[in-house]
Amino acid sequence: MAALIHRPEYAGYDFGPEHPFTPARLAMVLDLIQSLGHTLSPIAAPAATREEILTVHDEAYVAMVEALDRGEARPEAERFGLGTPDNPVFPGMDLAARWLVGGALHGARLLMAGTETRVLQLGGGLHHAQKDRAAGFCMYNDLAVAIQACVAHGWRVAYLDIDLHHGDGVQNLFYGDDRVLTVSLHETGHYLYPGTGHIQELGTGPARGLSVNVPLEPFTESESYLEAFDAVVPRALEWFAPQVLVVQAGADAHFTDPMGDLALTTQAFQGLYRRILDLAATHTQGRVLLTLGGGYEPQVVARVWTILYLTLMDLPIPERLPQAWLERWRDRLGPEPGSTLHDPVPAYPELPGREERNRRNRDIVARLQDSLFRYWL
Ligand SMILES: [Zn+2]
Repeated sequence: MAALIHRPEYAGYDFGPEHPFTPARLAMVLDLIQSLGHTLSPIAAPAATREEILTVHDEAYVAMVEALDRGEARPEAERFGLGTPDNPVFPGMDLAARWLVGGALHGARLLMAGTETRVLQLGGGLHHAQKDRAAGFCMYNDLAVAIQACVAHGWRVAYLDIDLHHGDGVQNLFYGDDRVLTVSLHETGHYLYPGTGHIQELGTGPARGLSVNVPLEPFTESESYLEAFDAVVPRALEWFAPQVLVVQAGADAHFTDPMGDLALTTQAFQGLYRRILDLAATHTQGRVLLTLGGGYEPQVVARVWTILYLTLMDLPIPERLPQAWLERWRDRLGPEPGSTLHDPVPAYPELPGREERNRRNRDIVARLQDSLFRYWL
């Protein structure tokens, strides 16, 4: 069983109808879970306070968000990553972002209080937000605020990022902190935003060896992805011995996602979720906090995150999508949404170059292990 955190105010984190990070994705997930016959009574967490935001962000940056939110003209906004195509300014954005941070923080508090072991924040996952600027659709770093609260509680925190993109914001915020391990699997930064997440980024000072990056080749498929995961993540957790696992569960590594070129199927995502629960059971007494993240193909995101919810709740995964749900979301689902919760098998025709791609991924994992193991003694 898992606790679900969500509130209608999350829909206010909205950069406009043309922007891909649309809150409609959350509405589709909630509707799909309920259409499958499950009653939802999510926990409505309070918004994070300004002081809580300041546990990871600079005051000057937060003041800039607030000023732009009030409608003040600030020519220097772009230096803070705001008023850009990725992060347009909109009225109410400060509070909208604080609602999302508050959800992740509340989830961390439920774990710290011992009232829950599995928590899903249905929203957020703003892993690109930096100490002093917005980036990549992310204004305040909800994950980092939750991690910081766990650190203040005396815990060692393992952060795992399965988004298509490198979790650069979280990595940077804890790059020198030996109480936080960050592990990110992503499409290599040689081809994809934000251009970081290379194997040489290992952390600094006492945290050397605590920043772990698995950059994967474009068109990496499920089997090769899971092989890399299994070669790195369990050993990292075993060595670090964390008290809690925090996960950014973006869905944009799916093969249909328009933002990049990893090629996971829904079956691979379910395999990842099972691994995450097993790792939490083995290393953190079951304690795990998950947020959402990227994911830009609406019909896939709805299916993947519904599978996440059902897996966390130990519920069976039904085969078919409810007809009423398909009809309600017809405009968002596109012309051929499919009728099953999982992808068909096989999900797509064989991609050329598989052997060479898998060999390159094995090579990068071997080089990463060589670098890390000297610190993991
Ligand atoms: Zn992403």
